[in-house]
Amino acid sequence: MQSRLPILVFALVMAAIPFIPGMPPFWIVLLDNIGLSALVAMGLVLLTGVGGLTSFGQAAFVGFGAYTTALLTTAYGLSPWLTLPLSLLISGLLAVLLGLVTVRLSGHYLPLGTLAWGLGLFYLFSKLEFLGRNDGISAIPPLSIGSFKMLSPGSIYFAIWVAVTLSALLTMNLLDSRTGRAIRALRRGHVAAEAFGVHTPRAKLLVFIHAAVLAGLSGWLYAHLQRAVNPTPFGAQAGIEYLFIAVVGGAGYVWGGVLGAAIVVILKEVLQSYLPLIVPGSGQVETIVFGIMLVALLQLAPGGVWPWLMSFLPERSGGRKPDTSLKLEQRPRASGQSSILLQVEKARKQFGGVVAVNNVSFDVQAREIVALIGPNGAGKSTTFNLITGVLSATSGSISVLGRKVDRAPPQEIVKLGISRTFQHVKLVPDMTVLENVAIGAHLRGHSGPLSSMLRLDRADEAKLLAEAARQIERVGLAEQMHQLAGSLSLGQQRIVEIARALCVDPMLLLLDEPAAGLRHMEKQQLAKLLRDLRDGGMSVLLVEHDMGFVMNLADRIVVLDFGTKIAEGTPATIKTNPEVIKAYLGVAA
Ligand code: ADP
Ligand code: MG
Repeated sequence: MQSRLPILVFALVMAAIPFIPGMPPFWIVLLDNIGLSALVAMGLVLLTGVGGLTSFGQAAFVGFGAYTTALLTTAYGLSPWLTLPLSLLISGLLAVLLGLVTVRLSGHYLPLGTLAWGLGLFYLFSKLEFLGRNDGISAIPPLSIGSFKMLSPGSIYFAIWVAVTLSALLTMNLLDSRTGRAIRALRRGHVAAEAFGVHTPRAKLLVFIHAAVLAGLSGWLYAHLQRAVNPTPFGAQAGIEYLFIAVVGGAGYVWGGVLGAAIVVILKEVLQSYLPLIVPGSGQVETIVFGIMLVALLQLAPGGVWPWLMSFLPERSGGRKPDTSLKLEQRPRASGQSSILLQVEKARKQFGGVVAVNNVSFDVQAREIVALIGPNGAGKSTTFNLITGVLSATSGSISVLGRKVDRAPPQEIVKLGISRTFQHVKLVPDMTVLENVAIGAHLRGHSGPLSSMLRLDRADEAKLLAEAARQIERVGLAEQMHQLAGSLSLGQQRIVEIARALCVDPMLLLLDEPAAGLRHMEKQQLAKLLRDLRDGGMSVLLVEHDMGFVMNLADRIVVLDFGTKIAEGTPATIKTNPEVIKAYLGVAA
């Protein structure tokens, strides 16, 4: 949980600036522009920096916000305070429409898609009669409170910076929540997040809307600052510039958006005022110098200026330990002795010509540790992916407690109490261990984005973090709780994945090579943990290459070779099975 003190200091400083004696009015105008850009950049921080969705089209949403209020206040005489929610609503609704189409694009197609609608909407603004075509709309009324009209840049300054401060606060609150963790997992961990119930397309759409609403807010303020709108500031070039601002400031950080806006707006202003004095008659030179300076800046601070500045601050000590006495509701356990938890029947998966899993059948009973072994490429991980819904089987069927789940996506499988770890660790490296593990409890929390922004989610959130902390302690990583997951050794990261999987309150735990990279002592601790879990009522299905580990731990072993099950039985029978020895264990075993 981050402190909110910096934002209070920021608000006080911004409130004091206009009262500094001798403050040139020109600087206030500049600060107004910085605030307007900062709002848009803040949205891009969430969308692009955190969510990994690059958008060149944000200027269009600024346009929607600006034109909505321009039209409604001039043609229909509505009060600007009434058009504020409408401007935000229209930007948000259009984000839903454009987002539904665009968000599903991947790779280069997404930024190209946003560029396309950025261009398209610009032409729409400049062609529509009721929006005044290229001339736009003028005589927009100023914002006013009672008889006080915000006519000067110095008076609307307060409205702009109140908007920036509140938006920063709400955005940071959102990022520091259940929904925020889902958003932060979009860029580098969506497969894992989905395995814990995160609905990725919904999270993407949410950041799209959030960014668009912030841009719409900027547009609404812009319209009442300029008191006139025309299409030019909402074109694709402006869209590119907003992205630039976010990247220069530090696209992963809310304050990066604000800082980037300050850097870019001031740099442009300085160049425009002073460069002609140095290089007379220069038309395009300032654009070139501007570009060179920004590239130089990014060389110096590749992640953006904000994180670069922060790296000079002394490192903050770890966060507070959550109150582990708080409890989440637990899953009702199926009673009865001989329950077959998981049944795999003739599961088959074909990748082109390769049959990765060839009509494999086995089951996992309640309170049982089953090991899946076999040489590399035998189809073990693919079997895991079939069970957890990451892949769907070519044929055959998979049932959980007698219910067929063949076509269920990962988000549904996890609801049944099956959780997993990944052979190739999938943690969000720039989130703490605690935050990563808390993603495992995603489905056990209920707070949505709005309550997170308003901090109404604290009770819910405290329980999620308590559960995460408990599971981290259980796997023996309490000391690393507040470290970034990416800073841990690979072996420890695997253990973090187990803690995350345990946060599901699973009935069945699927572990893909959990002991890889662990030292001897750590392996013994892991074996003890897994036995304890089984004795506590959980089942475990694990893939592992360390035969000493498997033979001592598993109740039953299933052996795969070239996608086919070649043996199944207790460790003692598997050890002496001639076919298994030939295919996998070798003579030495
Ligand atoms: P194991 O985990 O037992 O080492 P895998 O299940 O990863 O084996 O792989 C089994 C076979 O399926 C291998 O031949 C592998 O190359 C192939 N395979 C696995 N995943 C894919 C995929 N997504 N696309 C194509 N082939 C795959
Ligand atoms: Mg594998």
